Amino acid sequence: MNVHIHPSVDNGVKKGSGSFAGGTLVCKCKDRPVKVGVKGDVAHNHACGCTQCWKPDGAVFSVVAVVPRQNVTVLENGDKLHIVDPSKTIQRHACKACGTHMYGRIENKAHPFYGLDFIHPELFQESGSAAPGFAAFVSSVIESGVKPEQMDGIRARLKELGLEPYDCLSPALMDAIATHVAKSKAA
Ligand SMILES: [Zn+2]
Ligand SMILES: [Zn+2]
Repeated sequence: MNVHIHPSVDNGVKKGSGSFAGGTLVCKCKDRPVKVGVKGDVAHNHACGCTQCWKPDGAVFSVVAVVPRQNVTVLENGDKLHIVDPSKTIQRHACKACGTHMYGRIENKAHPFYGLDFIHPELFQESGSAAPGFAAFVSSVIESGVKPEQMDGIRARLKELGLEPYDCLSPALMDAIATHVAKSKAA
């Protein structure tokens, strides 16, 4: 069976260079593309099955990573950006013309991930950013139309790619959220 996860991993996960200094994210527009500069490498890169993340055409998963928000700067054609849904915790700044999500930002200072922006490393015009290391919200792809009976094949393919499948976030990120909650309760 031919299981497609995402175009950037379907032929195998490309390792990061380990010394990625940052780059420019470019939307899909031929005319006046939105360009967003990112300083430094990405962290917690992963495949995500949730229904909110932007996915390229035909992809079942998104590939999404985080970077410190102060490392993210809109460089060109920022007038084409809008927030997809202002009511969501992660405010996804997307190109109005082509729909590509350029960065997702959390404005709630009490949120465990406040200070981190979510970006899609496949949009870098440069190669070498840190590779995806796991798959999150895997069961959620059913909400996007994947049949439950396809899930065994999808989980097997993710494991084959070295992207351990989780139905929430990875243990490291779940621990980070719980630590934040525990600290806020103690405060
Ligand atoms: Zn665009
Ligand atoms: Zn997601």
